[in-house]
Amino acid sequence: MNEKSDKLIDKKGIRGDGRKADELRSVKLQVGVLPNADGSAYIEHGKNKILAAAFGPREMHPKHLAQADRMVLRCRYHMAPFSVQERKSPAPSRREVELSKVIKESLEPALFLELYPRTGVDVFVEVLQADGGTRCASITAAALAIADAGVPMKDLVVACAAGKVDDTVVVDLYDAEDKLGSADVPVAFMPNLNAITLLQMDGILSPDEFEQAVNMAMEGCKKIYVMQKEALKTKYMVVKEIEE
Ligand code: UDP
Repeated sequence: MNEKSDKLIDKKGIRGDGRKADELRSVKLQVGVLPNADGSAYIEHGKNKILAAAFGPREMHPKHLAQADRMVLRCRYHMAPFSVQERKSPAPSRREVELSKVIKESLEPALFLELYPRTGVDVFVEVLQADGGTRCASITAAALAIADAGVPMKDLVVACAAGKVDDTVVVDLYDAEDKLGSADVPVAFMPNLNAITLLQMDGILSPDEFEQAVNMAMEGCKKIYVMQKEALKTKYMVVKEIEE
């Protein structure tokens, strides 16, 4: 992080990629993109391109990992070697292990785990292109993939980050802001239940800035939530039309 951050926002308050402080990158969502998965979704969030595939609820393999009283959610976040500028080894890195855990824990509160004992749901996230904020975009896509698999959910989970760049709190950091900015606060949120399922902070913020960042991230989540619901409807409206 950050000595060079003074050039990330110009005098008019415009960020390096042309956005205002409270402006999201463009988001495109598509559901049901992988016929071999029970459910799937594709997200383009700015320059991030991410696929999520969901399977289950199904019998757990290996069986000893099954829980007698609940469903087990397993998530694997993986970055393709070509997803970043400097080739990433295809082997799982510490960061990918952490993000897999973070994604799983942010999705679990949306599921009725106790209603599906001895079963498992698996979610595979493949980052095809990364540009900052991949954990958030992955959560948004993974929640859609689970919904598309027909797994009952209390709410969709949607994620967005906010952070501090050049002494300004901004929403939805892209790669340069993520790396050169002074703080990053990823938030995952269930808008209908008004519940946060992930809150992390990297860097330093005053209590006021932190509150502002969380509020901005939640506002961002609410906007993406509308697109998530639209993406689900788009798939199932088409199916309905074909059936009729
Ligand atoms: N990144 C990279 N190489 C790597 C891992 C990450 O270039 O091996 C970039 C990528 O663009 C990623 C960004 O660094 O989105 C920020 O990574 P971070 O760990 O903060 O997670 P993210 O913001 O993607 O959730």
